[in-house]
Amino acid sequence: MLTGIHFLLSYTCNMKCDHCFLFCSPTSKGTMTMKQIRIILKESKKIGTIQETYYEGGEPFLFYPVMLEGIRLAREMGFNAGIVSNGYWSTCVEDAKLWLNPLSELDISNLSISDDELHYGNFQDSPAKCALAAAKALGIPAYSINKAEPKVQQKPDIGDGKGTPEISGGIKLRGRAVEKFVEGLPTRNCKEFRECPYEDLVDPKRVHIDSYGTVQICQGISMGNCWKTPLSELIRGYDARKHPICGPLVRGGPIRLIEEHGLDLKDKYVDECHLCYVARRALLDKFPEYLAPRQVYGLE
Ligand code: SF4
Ligand code: SF4
Repeated sequence: MLTGIHFLLSYTCNMKCDHCFLFCSPTSKGTMTMKQIRIILKESKKIGTIQETYYEGGEPFLFYPVMLEGIRLAREMGFNAGIVSNGYWSTCVEDAKLWLNPLSELDISNLSISDDELHYGNFQDSPAKCALAAAKALGIPAYSINKAEPKVQQKPDIGDGKGTPEISGGIKLRGRAVEKFVEGLPTRNCKEFRECPYEDLVDPKRVHIDSYGTVQICQGISMGNCWKTPLSELIRGYDARKHPICGPLVRGGPIRLIEEHGLDLKDKYVDECHLCYVARRALLDKFPEYLAPRQVYGLE
């Protein structure tokens, strides 16, 4: 059951992280307008099962008045509201409180802030720390997100005399992360990748929507366009098995995706998402409505 709508308020970000699976950067385009937010909130009400809205990007605080007004409307309509940010705006606790005060008054339910080496290098004095302290002082439920560059660790020998390599860091190999991180990581035969390990493609709990109208089940996989078909209709009509990308993924994971679409790809990949992303990149022009937006594939 779909319970969450995540607004990709913009692909613009003050940062350009190596691990960004949306390929965000200061020059990325695609920012939502209030008119678009109002339409999506109205449609979300029609769906009948939505409880939560999230405001993320890119960096949503770059569009502070629009984010604030979107949250105000969402709260007025009875939805919870959360935010995901890199915390760049937090220069000290006193000033961070000025940014957060209006959000505290709107009783947001979650503020998640990136606080790791991927965003801030040596992050002992990261802006995120001030933001988290300010949120705590204001009674806003706040959490830090911590990821790290993928590193190979050898898991203990399980009887095969070798041990199994394991990749730490929590990074998903999609988008820019594929370009920046896969080199040097251990690979496996793609025949092993027989399921999607992270997303419930049949019965998604949340979707991400951007200013182009793409309704994404996983980054870069769209149900359809909500500016062409109203969001509530898209959700009602979604059937993973009939979707040209989700169908094969549900039937047999990324390996099935390349088999059903006759892709000739080399046989070694790091994990399911790596193979899935490379396969989707190869299918972009064949399924422009379902593999969108191009921004997420580094093409805008
Ligand atoms: S990972 Fe987050 S902070 Fe980094 S570029 Fe992407 S949206 Fe911006
Ligand atoms: S396998 Fe594909 S659909 Fe599943 S989580 Fe990974 S990238 Fe997303």
